[in-house]
Amino acid sequence: MSKRMIDAFAAHGVPGVYAFNGTMPTEARPADLDILDDWCAAGHHVGNHTHQHISLNWLDTDTYIKDIDASERILRRWIDAAPTRYFRYAFAMEGDTVDKTREVQAHLTRTGFLSSPVTLWFWDAQFMAAHNRAVSLGDHEAVRWLEDKLVDTAVDQVRNQAAATAAALGRSPAHILLVHGTAVAGATLDRILGRLASHGVLFVTSEEAMADPANVIGPQLTTRRFRNFSQKWAELSGTTVADAPPAVLDDLDNTAYIEGMSFNELLGRAMTDWGTRIPFTPVASDFH
Ligand SMILES: [Zn+2]
Repeated sequence: MSKRMIDAFAAHGVPGVYAFNGTMPTEARPADLDILDDWCAAGHHVGNHTHQHISLNWLDTDTYIKDIDASERILRRWIDAAPTRYFRYAFAMEGDTVDKTREVQAHLTRTGFLSSPVTLWFWDAQFMAAHNRAVSLGDHEAVRWLEDKLVDTAVDQVRNQAAATAAALGRSPAHILLVHGTAVAGATLDRILGRLASHGVLFVTSEEAMADPANVIGPQLTTRRFRNFSQKWAELSGTTVADAPPAVLDDLDNTAYIEGMSFNELLGRAMTDWGTRIPFTPVASDFH
């Protein structure tokens, strides 16, 4: 999967992509980290995304900060090799109170991390669950339908979200797009990047994107909701992003149906599992 993503980035000239992963799974499988060497050898980079990947909304600040530091200890070799020390909030959630956000931001500043926002996304994690089911069932028709839908959804969402930001700000800043490292991303990224390029999208480094104050001093909106910067800019200007979340998500759970394997059921079980390691209170409605 990461090889297919690396190849797609190379084919479309996408430079210096930062990988953000929670590091807790590497406690049991340290060899998973080897993939980061291949990633960096291809010219890409690694940032900090917390150890346990638990939203700041659901934790106290001290625990969250310990989680940032724990991940840095594991990833230091790769983080030190990157041109910039970037931190990406777990779930891109920056905290449900201004005080939490400020305390974490102060820690990032002390430790030399710059928060790397997500300004665009296309709900590819939801496609991942359906795609995995379709592959496991050998349902080739469903696999193809899901991949085609993901490509269309990615292009539509980039257009809609960039348009919302442009309307809110009166100009079009550089954007930072999230793509999860999943099998469905590996299968579709080449087509997604090709379609974006055909619409005139130019790919720049994260450092170039972060030269824009819209990304460094982002939308000053404290919310516990799962929102990227484009959605926050839209909300601050009293508008919404068209078709976000996309209506197609409603069709995914019935595609290649397997009992107990819907996206929400998988996410719920993952949250329960995290809750056995550390006391926290996930709030499912944060994702709506
Ligand atoms: Zn994440």
